[in-house]
Amino acid sequence: MKNILEVQDVKKYFPIKTNIFSFSNFGKKNYKKALDGVSLLIAEGRVSVLVGESGSGKTTLARIILRAIDPDSGSIIFNGSNITKKTGRELRDFRKQAQMIHQDPYSSLNPIMKVFDIIKEPIDIFYKNYSKEERTEKILTVLEEVNLKPSTEFAEKYPHMLSGGERQRVAIARSLVIEPKLIIADEPVSMLDVSIRAQILQIVKQLSVNRKITIFYITHDLTTSRYIGDEISVMYAGKIVESGSIDKVLSNPLHPYTQALLDAVSEPKFENIDKEKIIRIKNFDSVATERGCNFFNRCPYSMDICKKEPKLERKEQNHNVSCFLHDTI
Ligand code: SF4
Repeated sequence: MKNILEVQDVKKYFPIKTNIFSFSNFGKKNYKKALDGVSLLIAEGRVSVLVGESGSGKTTLARIILRAIDPDSGSIIFNGSNITKKTGRELRDFRKQAQMIHQDPYSSLNPIMKVFDIIKEPIDIFYKNYSKEERTEKILTVLEEVNLKPSTEFAEKYPHMLSGGERQRVAIARSLVIEPKLIIADEPVSMLDVSIRAQILQIVKQLSVNRKITIFYITHDLTTSRYIGDEISVMYAGKIVESGSIDKVLSNPLHPYTQALLDAVSEPKFENIDKEKIIRIKNFDSVATERGCNFFNRCPYSMDICKKEPKLERKEQNHNVSCFLHDTI
């Protein structure tokens, strides 16, 4: 299977203000390692999930992929070419192919524009040669596709006239209208009522099935991950700690952090999972360690060897983990 996106050893450190009264820190620059050597492969036409707690670096990675911010080092390869180096027309071409759906459907739509004009905006930027009739047809078609029917009525509404779920459908339609190859969906249902989350997830999932769009789905929630994902990468404190097919990772989680995330899944727990594999971790000290395994302070199994840094390694077909517990598998 072809990979449409490759994230290669991406690092991004943000400077932290130091306390001027702390003499031990005087003159030193401190950094938060938002991304600390992240590598990922995303297969074309599939739904790849990135799961982790807030602050783990997920949104920073999404912003780097879309070139909203630059990495300190590492590369993003999209369809075989390095987009971290692109500027001008080449960067514009990439942006036509990669779109984002944001978490907050209330702030992501311009309140003074009608739905029709909100969806027309990206066409005006990327398909300047389209006639008025072609634009209208495209807009009404994508509104139908996200189930905003009758589309002619929804096209005339303003965002304040829509529910949260309807707004998120408009945001999806706006991404779809320029026919991207990749959509990054950053927690698109977390601000919606539970009752309408499944409908939005269903629409996003159908994009990969019907239109063969690759979806990179970012979430903190394993239940959503299992519903929507084909592949999963688990991120902790700026590193990928486990990755593979969703069935393998969630039925046989190998990293203690993934096992702890499963403990946070509300009842009923997933079937086909060995209950011994679900653990409860120490939450009182969530600070990642500077050296060695960054999960050391929270891990119930930490050992001396964990003061070295574990590498993400293949443990079975399509299942990788970064943990010394599995060195002998
Ligand atoms: Fe725990 Fe060690 Fe594995 Fe890190 S490498 S998750 S500290 S057992």
